[in-house]
Amino acid sequence: MHCPFCRHPDSRVIDSRTSDDGLSIRRRRQCPECGGRFSTVETASLSVVKRSGAVEPFSRDKVVSGVRKACQGRPVTDDDLALLAQKVEEALRQSGQSTLEANDIGLAILEPLRELDEIAYLRFASVYRAFESLGDFEEAVAELRAGRGEPNATEG
Ligand SMILES: [Zn+2]
Repeated sequence: MHCPFCRHPDSRVIDSRTSDDGLSIRRRRQCPECGGRFSTVETASLSVVKRSGAVEPFSRDKVVSGVRKACQGRPVTDDDLALLAQKVEEALRQSGQSTLEANDIGLAILEPLRELDEIAYLRFASVYRAFESLGDFEEAVAELRAGRGEPNATEG
């Protein structure tokens, strides 16, 4: 790791810390040449292949921004969204694949979003699963009710 200040080709690790979720390690480093301090974050790589074929690193921020719109006006906080993105990342890592398709991300979002807020889930699913008619919504609502074990329940 080159020093970002003087480009010295070596640096010394002075502290390592695992993040709370255990998914990354943050290292404090010091340059033996100029004494400059900087930190690096190490994570197992998780890449996403976009529809265009471009590959980019998985980003929790992108999950949050993708879901935020569906959560507009709903009682969902930034903390809820951060937790959702964390669950999505954990689920994706558990899949054992290091290269994912954009589609896999959408699928991984559906489940935790349904647990978080059913209306936001319906909005997200309507875009992601390309709902075309009221029938598609009715089907998704029926799935939600079945998931709750109350197939004949009324709204609310
Ligand atoms: Zn340096």
